[in-house]
Amino acid sequence: MEAVGLSSISKSYGDFTAVSNLSLSIPKGIIFGLLGPNGAGKTTTIRMIVRITVPDEGAVTIFSQQLTPKMQERIGYLPEERGLYKKMKVREQLLFLAGLKSVSAQEADKKIKYWTERLEISNWLEKKTDELSKGMQQKIQFISTILHSPELLILDEPFSGLDPINANLLIEVIQELKKSGCTIILSTHVMEQVEKLCDEICIINRSQKVLDGNLKTIKREFGNNRIALAVEGDSSFLRNSPFVENWTEFLHHIELDLCEGVDSQQLLRQVIDSGVRVTRFELVEPSLNEIFIKKVGKSNE
Ligand code: ATP
Repeated sequence: MEAVGLSSISKSYGDFTAVSNLSLSIPKGIIFGLLGPNGAGKTTTIRMIVRITVPDEGAVTIFSQQLTPKMQERIGYLPEERGLYKKMKVREQLLFLAGLKSVSAQEADKKIKYWTERLEISNWLEKKTDELSKGMQQKIQFISTILHSPELLILDEPFSGLDPINANLLIEVIQELKKSGCTIILSTHVMEQVEKLCDEICIINRSQKVLDGNLKTIKREFGNNRIALAVEGDSSFLRNSPFVENWTEFLHHIELDLCEGVDSQQLLRQVIDSGVRVTRFELVEPSLNEIFIKKVGKSNE
């Protein structure tokens, strides 16, 4: 079943097109990465999903229906810009925000206890928000987003301000929420976190989709032209190989990009024919970072 469906949505501000003809189908129960460089149109897309803004063209559906005010209670949205009440105590604030999503005080109390302990911030419940560090406030705002147990959770840069230990803690919590059946849309610039978390991704650049699909499949498709190679003997002949485009030497191996249209077996044959002894010959997957740079670079050309 589909959690979010975008059907050819577009949004312009004056003459400027922020999102152009974007279609996506996000299945229920997955973690979906919405990626793109600064100004690509990610936040505008998210705002159209949660109906803070409406598309000029196209349609958005949530759980195969048009978004109604009642359905807003099934969604949790952590916006990029943070919005906690600075002078309010943390517990008071969480209770208030849970109340806005129709969570009873008794239920909210239980959830606040669970999530503040899970995110290791329960000692700060009686402090005023402006006494908390940026990372702590980030954790509190995250908790406020999930107190009503949303079925769809949209997180815009949820790791900003978190140190590596707290970022890992949040990764665990996001995985836990997925296990409980929640669908999560994640917008972030940190590709390592996307690699750890996301089942599917979409990269947008300059308002348009440039790549989408299953992350493992995308990596496999991009990974058919890079070879990790180690040999005993002189490998310098590879520098002039007609099959090789790029060459990077590491301490114990070499990484090569094959020229377009070249099959890895052609290179393997050349290496064996040269008389060196092959100790490693392996297709390697590129990192999502490389895929991102390649796709965004190409679409900018
Ligand atoms: P970032 O990674 O920097 O947060 P983003 O991909 O989320 O970027 P958006 O915030 O969606 O990008 O912005 C896309 C483009 O639309 C930007 O050029 C931005 O200036 C423009 N834009 C967004 N909101 C408005 C608005 N309310 N009025 C005018 N222009 C806007």
